Amino acid sequence: MKIGFIGLGIMGKPMVRNLLKAGHEVLAYDVIQANVDQAVKDGAKAAESSKDVAAQCKLIITMLPNSPHVKSVVMGENGVLEGAQPGTILVDMSSIAPLASKEIFEACEKKGVKMIDAPVSGGEPKAIDGTMSIMVGGDKAIFDEVYDILMSMGGSAVYCGEIGAGNTTKLANQVIVALNIAAVSEAFMLSTKAGVDPIKVFDAIKGGLAGSTVMNAKVPMITEGNFNPGFKIDLHIKDLTNALDTGHGVGAPLPLTSLVMEMMQTLRADGYGQNDHSALAKYYEKITGTEIRK
Ligand code: NAD
Repeated sequence: MKIGFIGLGIMGKPMVRNLLKAGHEVLAYDVIQANVDQAVKDGAKAAESSKDVAAQCKLIITMLPNSPHVKSVVMGENGVLEGAQPGTILVDMSSIAPLASKEIFEACEKKGVKMIDAPVSGGEPKAIDGTMSIMVGGDKAIFDEVYDILMSMGGSAVYCGEIGAGNTTKLANQVIVALNIAAVSEAFMLSTKAGVDPIKVFDAIKGGLAGSTVMNAKVPMITEGNFNPGFKIDLHIKDLTNALDTGHGVGAPLPLTSLVMEMMQTLRADGYGQNDHSALAKYYEKITGTEIRK
């Protein structure tokens, strides 16, 4: 099948590679030409704009940073809705505000374009492996129609409910990940300051109740002092902003989220916004003047 793909960043590039590997033809677009060039090297064809993608493809996937980017790519000048034929399916896999998904869905509906929200979890390693967890909101029939395509990029694809439900699920995921990294950082600073080798702590507890996918992925990065993204602090601040807004809107207080948000804001103010979110450990390292290293 010919699939249009818009947004060829850390996640988009390997997702395109997996679509190609599954035998699809991919027409790719990004505002950064180097990202398009890389996708072309991988076997995709280059498009000139989001409108151009939509004019040539009946299935379009977007993988963009946040709500304003998806709105502009879909609803803006030279955007998807200027080029799309009625019956086109738009699968937005970006992590955006659930309310924005609903707005974009309504604009699509007016043009006869069917949209689902399908954000992902797993980060770059799982985007490369094609084992991402995909959470989907929208019309169940569209989910069923694109299920095999989603599964060429993911290890699971779960239908969560109406439009926006995928992004609500993703916000829950992002709250858990942020708090988990903060908890890991705090606990590993405790053991480091108390004089126990962090690698021994990791080996001793990773198989117990405190063990987690976050711990397995982030402790090796922290102990190596490798904070290359991965998933950037700036993007996680975006998700926590959406989580806090959504929580306030529905009457769900998020006290722990707001605390970790301020830790991330401190790191951003300190110049770490483009670091991996495992750099939450740096918050503790700055306070104590001690590094968590093997
Ligand atoms: P990224 O910043 O690396 O990539 C986003 C891409 O979108 C960039 O290449 C950018 O040039 C492109 N873009 C921006 N505006 C555009 C426009 N108007 N037209 C065309 N292209 C445009 O981000 P990423 O890490 O790939 O993340 C993408 C989405 O996936 C985000 O919503 C993020 O929260 C989510 N996500 C990321 C990870 C991760 O580990 N990186 C994990 C899960 C989910």
